[in-house]
Amino acid sequence: MARERLIVIGAVAAGTKAASKAKREKADLDVKIFSKEENISYAGCGLPYYIGGIIKEKKELLVRTPEIFKKEQDIEIYIKHEVTKINVNEKKVTVLNLENTEITEYEYDKLIIATGATPFVPPLENVNLKNIFTLRSVTDAFAIREMVDMGKAKKAVVVGGGFIGLEVAENLKHRGVDVTLFELVPHILPPFDEEIALFAQNHMKEKGVDIITGEKVTGFEGDSEGVKRVITSVGSFEADIVILSIGVRPNVSLAKAAGIELGVTGAIKVNEFMETNIKDIYAAGDCIENVNLVTGKAAWYPMGSTSNKTGRIAGQNCVSDLKDSLEGVLGTTIVKLFDVSAAKTGLSERDAIKEGFEVETVLVPMDDRAHYYPGHKNITTKLIADKKTHKVLGAQIIGEGVVDKPIDIIATAITFGADLEGLSKLDLAYAPPFSTAMSSTLVVSNVLLNKLNQKMEGINPAKLPEKIQRKEVNVVDVREEVEFFISAIPESVNIPINELENRCEEINKDGETVILVCKVGRRAYTAYKKLKELGYKDVKILEGGATAYPYEMK
Ligand SMILES: Cc1cc2nc3c(=O)[nH]c(=O)nc-3n(C[C@H](O)[C@H](O)[C@H](O)COP(=O)(O)OP(=O)(O)OC[C@H]3O[C@@H](n4cnc5c(N)ncnc54)[C@H](O)[C@@H]3O)c2cc1C
Repeated sequence: MARERLIVIGAVAAGTKAASKAKREKADLDVKIFSKEENISYAGCGLPYYIGGIIKEKKELLVRTPEIFKKEQDIEIYIKHEVTKINVNEKKVTVLNLENTEITEYEYDKLIIATGATPFVPPLENVNLKNIFTLRSVTDAFAIREMVDMGKAKKAVVVGGGFIGLEVAENLKHRGVDVTLFELVPHILPPFDEEIALFAQNHMKEKGVDIITGEKVTGFEGDSEGVKRVITSVGSFEADIVILSIGVRPNVSLAKAAGIELGVTGAIKVNEFMETNIKDIYAAGDCIENVNLVTGKAAWYPMGSTSNKTGRIAGQNCVSDLKDSLEGVLGTTIVKLFDVSAAKTGLSERDAIKEGFEVETVLVPMDDRAHYYPGHKNITTKLIADKKTHKVLGAQIIGEGVVDKPIDIIATAITFGADLEGLSKLDLAYAPPFSTAMSSTLVVSNVLLNKLNQKMEGINPAKLPEKIQRKEVNVVDVREEVEFFISAIPESVNIPINELENRCEEINKDGETVILVCKVGRRAYTAYKKLKELGYKDVKILEGGATAYPYEMK
């Protein structure tokens, strides 16, 4: 009997995962993967670290070769072979051999499209000059690293302050390259809320990356040797290397031409089984549209984590009667920026409001481990919940401490529909080297519940500068004089907590809103209680205190 034939298009994360899973499900399956690229199954997420020299050798990026796939799994991988057409009626693909231009047709019983995504290159003046790169494949990374290794990259301009741009900026800086980064919107890390993103931005600047936000790159100047200057809305900047990292677009033209339906995001529409609208054709990875678990709406999250998951499901379902499915994802992400890590799951405050939720948020800095245990570091958590149902909608965590564990806890909780009451009672592991007795996740949930139950009123730092400017607030810093002296919020006055009772006549009872500031919030909370007892009505705590205040200090 003829073997069932599976063809997979694309051989990076989703394609190879899908093929391997299908083969495990059905050992006698005839599996062919076609890849336009020479390199397959590589660690795309590791590319910035190869540029930075943290990953030393090229071979460390290349997870598996076609020979290994053939030998260990009986999967045939055709590199430098582009699929140019899918004939859905005859169940055939047309394949162009990019080395000898030969065209061959291959029949399939099942087809998985894993064509991924491509960096967006805007039509800017002279964008095709030499030494202007995007970073997607190992070939890009090899070329960039070679320039750095040869001392040819002294001044770099990175265009785009998303994860890839930031990781590249950090790694180039490690290699001694002067880095200027441009971001069009007002802050880096656009999916994050402003106060978290600015915290990261300040840290990157402290580490020597010149960051210019809210400005546009409009073109490039150079000669036959390559780029020399970057032209922007704030003047021109010298550069011998440019990295364009302003986002990716799903590779869907092949699917679209075959009549495969695209979704509202422009990526391939699949159901929870990774099936497209055409029978026996599945899709997975960066080329497909996802569902956001919080909103239930279509969203596009081109990420390695999701690509592997969807690839595995497509691989199983195309050959097995035991169907696997994926209801949706949260867009959970994490990035390391020098000494700080930033992570996000679910909706940002901005997106939650856009989606019509009535939200309440809180910002809480904490130690990641017991304060008396050596090596403990700070992390600041922003938690976002629905005001009516108390359902957790999203979280963002930033700091020098461990952020991956708490973000994964919150992602898990959101996935299972947790509310704040549930999140605040989780039974989490504790010993001093690992956590605090009340872990940050529990504390932040309790503080948000306190806020929702009107036990305390807080103000997010993002709302404060404008209020100070409009003279709507009286900012009272209750830290010790020496702490206030080192740095303080503009226009704030210092009344240390132990002097508050005697000096409270200095605070107008019926004037502007009183904003109480301390290092992280604890002393401000005590002061809040005291002022409330003394009859002050309009009092708020600055959430995150001076620790998480990302704006200018005096
Ligand atoms: C620098 C960088 C850092 C990243 N860091 C992270 C991270 O930390 N965490 C995370 O979750 N994600 C990260 N990602 C994203 C992650 O790498 C991608 O989500 C993942 O590689 C997507 O896998 P994929 O198989 O869907 O698509 P791709 O990796 O895009 O692979 C698709 C393949 O299909 C080939 N192809 C396309 N069309 C055809 C055709 N017609 N015929 C034959 N072949 C074709 C392409 O050439 C490509 O080789 C990062 C990406 C980059 C570039």
